[in-house]
Amino acid sequence: MEKNNRAVVVFSGGQDSTTCLFWAMKQFDHVELVTFDYQQRHHAEIEIAKEIANEQGLTHHVLDMALLNQLAPNALTRNEIEVSNETGEDLPNTFVPGRNLLFLSFAAILAKQIDAKHIVTGVCETDFSGYPDCRDVFVKSLNVTLNLSMDDQFVIHTPLMWLDKAATWELADQLHVLEYIRERTLTCYNGIKGSGCGECPACQLRQRGLDKYLQSTDGVNK
Ligand SMILES: [Zn+2]
Repeated sequence: MEKNNRAVVVFSGGQDSTTCLFWAMKQFDHVELVTFDYQQRHHAEIEIAKEIANEQGLTHHVLDMALLNQLAPNALTRNEIEVSNETGEDLPNTFVPGRNLLFLSFAAILAKQIDAKHIVTGVCETDFSGYPDCRDVFVKSLNVTLNLSMDDQFVIHTPLMWLDKAATWELADQLHVLEYIRERTLTCYNGIKGSGCGECPACQLRQRGLDKYLQSTDGVNK
């Protein structure tokens, strides 16, 4: 088996990571998926990730990251540990600083075990949501650290790093999966698949990007 052609995609079942999945399937001979179960606000995320993995016939590793809840700010600052949505804000209240650091590190350990050189993640600096460990400089730095830590030559790929949401839809279209991603993925903070609730920040960002992309193709395709 040619090691250089094996990849692990960090996969959440959302628009970005599903686009990365199809990007990876074009680039690499063998693709496996890893999803982190940190008791997301909506367990539907995990189910949708499983569904897509099954449909694409890909091996899907779901890793238990419930320990993140122990570190979540709300759990630390309150007597009762509550991980449900309380404010409808942008971030799940299970958000932990450094989360992407952990996810990419675990993805690399998995990659080592399944003999994959490539790690693909949908992090993005353009729609930067305030997570320093989603920035390009961090990913490059971690790549060096991971290589040193395991004496390996991993390559972390970030195909969406410099794309805005419209450009991410464009990439999906180029990969011939625009409709699939539109209908099958879950981005909505209220747990509604496809075009979602239409009101939460994630839905609005997704829809604005789609509108912008579709407008830009108007008159080109028709
Ligand atoms: Zn929504």
